Amino acid sequence: MIEIKNLCKSFKTSSDTFHALKDINIHIKKEEAILIYGHSGSGKSTLLSIIASLMKPTSGEVNVHGENIASLSDIHASSYRKNVVGVITQNFHLFDELRVEENLLAPLVLNDHKSSEISILIDKALKTANILHKKKQKVNTLSGGEKQRCIIARAIVNNPDIIICDEPTANLDETNSLLFMETLKELKHQGKTLIIATHDPLFKTQEFVDRVLTMKEGSLG
Ligand code: ADP
Ligand code: MG
Repeated sequence: MIEIKNLCKSFKTSSDTFHALKDINIHIKKEEAILIYGHSGSGKSTLLSIIASLMKPTSGEVNVHGENIASLSDIHASSYRKNVVGVITQNFHLFDELRVEENLLAPLVLNDHKSSEISILIDKALKTANILHKKKQKVNTLSGGEKQRCIIARAIVNNPDIIICDEPTANLDETNSLLFMETLKELKHQGKTLIIATHDPLFKTQEFVDRVLTMKEGSLG
């Protein structure tokens, strides 16, 4: 369960202060899939970065499982990022020269898993992301859609409760976008909370989406 209360984020520029998020309030239930829909510059990435604990808000709270992540210490924020949230964006680079399965090792090794568990967790994530058949292949031999599936697998390999997606279909064609949505549907069935920021209208027609929140100039409508 995620409870966002009176969340504000301002950026100070040389001449003035820009209010990127203005008093955001959202209550998200477990197993809910929420769409944050809005134009470029409306504040979607800023909101997701705060929920992912990659950025601190100027004021307000983000309570996840009863804990305000806005006030976590660095070490607790890092543990939260490793274990509680999985982030899927276009900017998270893969290691091109490494195999698909090797790209999933970093988040697992950081978590001190037993080596016997590691290959089971990797296969499970690759299967959910629909890329298990390419696990021995180097990333630089994959298509764009397959790379995206590799990014999904890496985001879910630690079995996070919350999956955050920032413009996940921005570089995908319609076929791959629809495949990606099938994966999201499966993740929802597995009990994950999904928060998706997008301006792709294809999402609005998806049955697995429970709620569409429209973001405009830093406010939710
Ligand atoms: P979206 O993801 O909806 O395109 P963003 O959250 O990236 O929107 O940005 C919202 C607004 O905040 C934009 O006007 C952007 O220029 C501004 N902004 C984002 N990050 C910063 C920053 N680090 N410094 C100053 N302004 C920023
Ligand atoms: Mg953005």
